[in-house]
Amino acid sequence: MPHTADKAANIDPTEIRKFEDLASRWWDEKGEFKPLHEMNPIRLSFINSGSPLSGSKTCDVGCGGGILSESMAKAGAEVTGIDMGKAPLSVARLHALESELDIDYQQTTVEDFAAENPGRFDVVTCMEMLEHVPDPSSIIRACHDLLKPGGSAYFSTINRNPKAYLFAIVGAEYVMKMLPRGTHDYARFIRPSELDAWARDSGLKLTGIKGVSYNPFTGLFSLSSDVDINYMVHYTRPVE
Ligand code: SAH
Repeated sequence: MPHTADKAANIDPTEIRKFEDLASRWWDEKGEFKPLHEMNPIRLSFINSGSPLSGSKTCDVGCGGGILSESMAKAGAEVTGIDMGKAPLSVARLHALESELDIDYQQTTVEDFAAENPGRFDVVTCMEMLEHVPDPSSIIRACHDLLKPGGSAYFSTINRNPKAYLFAIVGAEYVMKMLPRGTHDYARFIRPSELDAWARDSGLKLTGIKGVSYNPFTGLFSLSSDVDINYMVHYTRPVE
């Protein structure tokens, strides 16, 4: 499918529609979002070990149906979740009610939200979203702007190299059928060096990087030193 882009906002409507269409299945742990459910415990521990979540003001950017948002709220964070998908946010709101969690979900772009809420958050997370937007650098800059000095941003995405193509697209979408075909577009994958250049330009400092490795035999994800495919990064906004 060709890329489309709303030039006024940093949004690809084709990408938003993909997630709208699947929204009802967001919390089906065996459905299309199974990998997000399976990855979540290690994402949460990566975040919580870098920035204790209890009592923190946290913004989850591109929160979707709220898998990470809910787990951070359960860990004691005061969570705001933002996304441009209407259906995923409806699912997120209903699910938070069922889970008896108080999460503030808003339909807005991170750029607009950051302009209204500069320096408000201790922690900003943006997981599995950068590879779905026309201009990831603008998302990273807005995440920086949302942070208090000393606050932390966490990003996860997929590296761009032949191994990532083989495992994240051919393996996950075609062979293992872990994800629907067309979920990911290789051209939008992001090398850690590219992400780091955008983050540095925005004023963020690299604090940590870990690979997110999948073992097809056990079906488990784990944190590793192999950043060739999925990876997570921790950045800090320096105290001036
Ligand atoms: N971060 C969640 C969901 C990842 S799926 C998790 O990891 O569990 C990607 C999400 O990004 C979808 O919900 C989609 O609607 C959202 N998204 C894509 N482009 C966006 C944009 N430009 N602004 C806000 N949200 C966006």
